[in-house]
Amino acid sequence: MTGRIVHVIGAGVAGLSAAVRLVDAGLNVIVHEAARAAGGRCRSYYDQSLDLVIDNGNHLLLSGNHRALEYLGRIGSLDKLRGPRSAIFDFADAQSGERWRLRPNAGRLPWWLLDRRRRAPGTTLSEYFAPLGMLTAPSTATVAEAMSCAGPLYERMWRPVLLAGLNTDPREGSAALAAAVLRETLAAGGRACRPLIASEGLSPTFIDPALAFLKARNATVRFGERLRAIRFESARAAELEFEAGRKALAGDDGVLIAVPPRTAQDLLPGLEAPDEFRAIVNAHFRIAPPQGQPRILGVVNGLTEWLFAYPGHLSTTISAADRLLDRPREELAAEIWREAAALTGLPPGLPRWQIVKEKRATFAATPAQNAKRPPSHTRWKNVALAGDWTQTGLPATIEGAVRSGHKAASIIVEMRACAPQARTATGVSP
Ligand SMILES: Cc1cc2nc3c(=O)[nH]c(=O)nc-3n(C[C@H](O)[C@H](O)[C@H](O)COP(=O)(O)OP(=O)(O)OC[C@H]3O[C@@H](n4cnc5c(N)ncnc54)[C@H](O)[C@@H]3O)c2cc1C
Repeated sequence: MTGRIVHVIGAGVAGLSAAVRLVDAGLNVIVHEAARAAGGRCRSYYDQSLDLVIDNGNHLLLSGNHRALEYLGRIGSLDKLRGPRSAIFDFADAQSGERWRLRPNAGRLPWWLLDRRRRAPGTTLSEYFAPLGMLTAPSTATVAEAMSCAGPLYERMWRPVLLAGLNTDPREGSAALAAAVLRETLAAGGRACRPLIASEGLSPTFIDPALAFLKARNATVRFGERLRAIRFESARAAELEFEAGRKALAGDDGVLIAVPPRTAQDLLPGLEAPDEFRAIVNAHFRIAPPQGQPRILGVVNGLTEWLFAYPGHLSTTISAADRLLDRPREELAAEIWREAAALTGLPPGLPRWQIVKEKRATFAATPAQNAKRPPSHTRWKNVALAGDWTQTGLPATIEGAVRSGHKAASIIVEMRACAPQARTATGVSP
């Protein structure tokens, strides 16, 4: 590879979306990934106990996640996201067995609230406007300080929606982050909240097509390459130290760091970053979903929060699940299956199962942690930062990861345009 190079460190969604942007801007890109596969917290893998390829965790996108959809469009896999034509959310109460379906109308004017059949049962109109207070809340406010966290609609809609969006108990969650999610989805009308899932799996949708895109454009992706340290010289990164050896950087080579916050802090001295995390527990069962099972079912009053139906298996998600990390996996599988069997009408006998506990699934979306998120610019001229935990204005989501990747890529592109070596004789960047 000749010419100036951008080294992207980390091949999660943030690193890959940045690499795609950089390649599109005509730069030479090398992606260095510590693991043997790409995808980070958004990946598929073969699971021996199930004898199936599964995702590390169920991921839900909404049609208002515009940057994530744009990324998929660019790498050619937008058609792999599946979902209903309109915003439909099926819910069940695990205790009473009651079922309901939320059906926001497509436009911004929320006339669906006037139709009881489109709302959650037993709720009043005014409860739907409870989050309005979050739109003007200060950045230090929690959701509980900005809206009432009690009542039928809180339990039947706001709590499940905000818990899924923040991966943090909404009562302690940041009102600003919750408001950002709602502003871009529910408040933008049903058109922006069609639920979308990667039904063929996360890697075939978000990761493998990006790797193919990069390869086809002569970018390099290297696996098993952990960056251990960066040597800095006069406010620039001058050398990268990988486990396998060192790589000296040329004058205007760029470095785009897209690793988890703790690793970024080891690499970039003095970097402030979130340091509190929340777990997500997923249970996977190898059993075909029954006919007519919704692709996504929200569950209240149970241990399970979301039940996802895939061809050949069922999976459940429990967010902010730190309380479950020490529970024996067999016990969790049995308890979750009891609920899932009751919700689907499938036999009570436990099918082949797997429990995946992602201990640090996301940073805790509290006001205090949100305040620790760094910008994409760093104090080093040729280093930019990406990751769902940087200042994206959103909680830790794929949409946030893609935005962070795009932002960091723009910084590197601009940096290159400003670098003295990149100027032509007339002083205009090529
Ligand atoms: C169980 C679970 C469920 C989720 N559900 C949803 C959902 O429903 N909707 C949604 O939008 N989001 C969801 N998320 C969040 C989403 O997965 C993340 O926001 C996104 O994947 C973060 O991408 P990232 O690139 O910022 O970080 P990561 O995926 O963490 O990528 C960082 C990469 O850097 C690599 N790396 C680390 N150290 C080094 C080093 N020293 N050198 C080189 N490489 C290194 C890692 O191996 C990794 O590949 C979920 C996350 C989890 C865990």
